[in-house]
Amino acid sequence: MTNVNPNFVLMVEDLTVSFDGFKAVNGLSFEVEPNECRVMIGPNGAGKTTVLDLICGRTRATSGSVRFKGKELLTMREDQIVLAGVGRKFQTPSVYEDLSVFENLELSYPRGHSVFGSLFFRRDAEVKTRIAEIAETIFLADLLDEKAAFLSHGQKQWLEIGMLLIQDPELLMLDEPVAGMSVAERKKTAELLNRIIDHRSVIVIEHDMGFVEDIATRVTVLHQGQTLSEGSMERVKNDPKVIEVYLGH
Ligand code: ADP
Ligand code: MG
Repeated sequence: MTNVNPNFVLMVEDLTVSFDGFKAVNGLSFEVEPNECRVMIGPNGAGKTTVLDLICGRTRATSGSVRFKGKELLTMREDQIVLAGVGRKFQTPSVYEDLSVFENLELSYPRGHSVFGSLFFRRDAEVKTRIAEIAETIFLADLLDEKAAFLSHGQKQWLEIGMLLIQDPELLMLDEPVAGMSVAERKKTAELLNRIIDHRSVIVIEHDMGFVEDIATRVTVLHQGQTLSEGSMERVKNDPKVIEVYLGH
């Protein structure tokens, strides 16, 4: 029996998944603290995306434990994990192109949880205020009526982050959010993430080392499904093992 530490938002212990005998994630353990931005780096195929798939219930683990605020996630369904407060953004943006920024955010607003338990309980003003707040956070306040199709790639990524934020997750997981973004957009995304962790924890997979340096509380270097190195960016960057298998290339 291991102890549940209430100071951790997420506790991953001995997490393993085997695909036909190949262990894509192999005995991985790490913890995420409140207000932490944990960045996961590592070579292609290291198992980074699979770790997020396991946490959000998209892929079933072979063994191990993933506890979110003390609650075991590995036995829960994907939708239950979302409701528990874990949001996940995939690599490619999936916004509704034909809908406006406002409508995309509106669709993501959690419904049906009013005290009256009624889906018909109207709270338009509350929804609008929340959408305005989120739009401000994701730099899209002036583009609420714009069709998503006309947004830049970076703006679409922000919109998708907004669609997760509106559900108010306590843990947000982002897979390569700045891939394909301009330098200016990367800077703004770093600013956005630094704002987000005032209220929640984040796990980010990323390759751009400048960006990682701007956002990371701690870094986990994954290699062949295992932790190769972990700690501050400074520590990890100077770890000879990391230089050999990852940064050296
Ligand atoms: P990363 O995101 O670090 O680049 P992935 O987590 O996508 O790596 O993949 C890790 C390894 O697991 C790769 O070798 C990949 O081919 C394999 N893999 C991932 N998902 C599956 C799956 N559903 N079935 C079989 N193999 C998979
Ligand atoms: Mg990946």
